[in-house]
Amino acid sequence: MEQVDDVVIVGAGVIGLASALALLDAGRGVRVLDAGRAGCGSSHGNCGTITPSHAAPLAAPGAIGRALRWMLTPDAPFYVAPRVDPTLWAWLARFASRCNAADWHAGMVAKAAILLDARAALPAWIARHGLDCEFREGGVDYVFRSAQARDAFEHERDALAAVGIASESIDGAACVAADPALLAGLAGAVRFAGDASLRPDRYVAELARAVRAAGGVIEEDCRVEGIHEDSEGVRVRTTQGPRHGRELLLATGAWSGPLARATGLGRLPVQPGKGYSITYARPVIVPRRALVLVERGVCVTGWDDGFRLGSTMELAGFDTRLNRCRLGALERGAAEYLQHPVGPVKREEWYGWRPLSCDDLPIIGRAPRRRRTWLATGHGMLGVTMSTATADLVADLVVGRQTRIDPAPYAPARFA
Ligand SMILES: Cc1cc2nc3c(=O)[nH]c(=O)nc-3n(C[C@H](O)[C@H](O)[C@H](O)COP(=O)(O)OP(=O)(O)OC[C@H]3O[C@@H](n4cnc5c(N)ncnc54)[C@H](O)[C@@H]3O)c2cc1C
Repeated sequence: MEQVDDVVIVGAGVIGLASALALLDAGRGVRVLDAGRAGCGSSHGNCGTITPSHAAPLAAPGAIGRALRWMLTPDAPFYVAPRVDPTLWAWLARFASRCNAADWHAGMVAKAAILLDARAALPAWIARHGLDCEFREGGVDYVFRSAQARDAFEHERDALAAVGIASESIDGAACVAADPALLAGLAGAVRFAGDASLRPDRYVAELARAVRAAGGVIEEDCRVEGIHEDSEGVRVRTTQGPRHGRELLLATGAWSGPLARATGLGRLPVQPGKGYSITYARPVIVPRRALVLVERGVCVTGWDDGFRLGSTMELAGFDTRLNRCRLGALERGAAEYLQHPVGPVKREEWYGWRPLSCDDLPIIGRAPRRRRTWLATGHGMLGVTMSTATADLVADLVVGRQTRIDPAPYAPARFA
C-alpha cells in the first residue's frame, strides 16, 4: 500500500526543519524532502545572529537611490546585476512601491511582531529539544566609525524602540575599553541587548537530529519536480519516485519562486539575495559579542572554535560564482574596526541565497487557491531568527489552533 504521510515538507533548511519539529510536537507525522543535504542551503554559512534589531524593512525611503549609486561600486554591500529577467523587474517594481515612510513603518510593525515572538520562544525551544548550537544571549553591538553614521542611525533606533526593540548607546572610548577586539578611535556603538547569536550549521544539524529523534523522516538528494493537490491530499513527483501527503509545506527558501511557478502554485515574489561569508579558525581575540560593522555592512560572529565575517546583498539570480571582490570587501571592512580582522586559518568561503520577498516579510500560510498546500518562505536576512515563530505559526495553522501572533501580515494571499 502507498505510504501517505501527514505532512510532506519540501526543503530541509532551517525553516523546513523547524516547522517539521513543531508539527511533530503537535502530533503530526512528517517527511522532509531536500534536493541536497539537510541544511545545505542558505541555512549553512549565514552569520547566526538572532536580531530583532533588524526589524526595519529593506524597502526604505531612499533605498532605490542608494541601490543605484551602489551599482557603480564593485564592492558595495548591495548590488543589482542588470539583466533581462521579468521576475526580477516585477519584484523590483513591487519593492520600489514600498520605499515610502508609511509602508516602512507598517512593515517594521509586522516584522517586529514575528521577530520578538521568535526571540522570546528561542531559549525554551533550544532547551526543550536539547539543541547544542552555541546559543549566546547578551546582545549584538552595531559599531560605528563615524559620528555622522551613528547620528543617522538615531531615526531607525527611535522607530525600533517604538515597536519594543530597545537599545543603548555606548560611546567610542567605552566600547573599545569594554572589548579589546575593537580598534581605538571608533565613534561608538549601539547595543541591542535583546539580540543573540548561535552557530547556524550546528543549529540546522541539531534540528535535523531532533526531527529524526521525534520520528520524522528526512530524505536527502530527493528533488521535488512536481506537486499536484487533489481532494485526498498532495501528490509529489521527486527524483526518488512519488511521495504522498495529506498536506504539503513548501519551505524551499530562495528556490520557492521558481518551484512555485514550475509546479503551478503561481507567482511568488521571492528573489535570491546572494550573500557571502568567510569562516576562520578563531583569532587571538574575538569580539565579546556579535557585531554589525555599520558603515561596511559586515557582520562578525565568533564561536568556540571559529569566527565568521558575512554580508553583502547581490540580486544576481542564481549566479554560482564566488565574487572575490565581495569576499575581499568583508576582510577590508573588518580591518577598519577590528584588531584581528581575520583568523589564522581560512576554513570556508561561502555564498548563500537569502529568500527575499518584495515586502521583506516572510510568506507563511495557506497557498492561494489551495486547501492542503502551505508556504513558509521569504525570510530574507532573518530566517534563523524567525525560525521558532515560523515553525509554531505553521503548526498552529495546519492543526487549526489559535496562533500566538496575528498571521495576517505574512499570509501568501497578500500577493494573490
Ligand atoms: C551571508 C548571509 C548571512 C545571513 N545571516 C543571517 C543571520 O545572521 N541571522 C538570520 O536570522 N538569518 C541570516 N541569513 C538568512 C538565513 O540564512 C535565511 O533566511 C535562512 O537560511 C532561510 O532558510 P530556508 O530554510 O528558508 O532556506 P534554505 O536554508 O536555503 O533551505 C531551502 C532548502 O530547500 C531545498 N530545495 C530547493 N529546491 C528544492 C526542490 N525542488 N526539492 C527539494 N528541496 C529543494 C534546498 O536544497 C535547501 O536545502 C543570512 C543569509 C546569508 C546569505
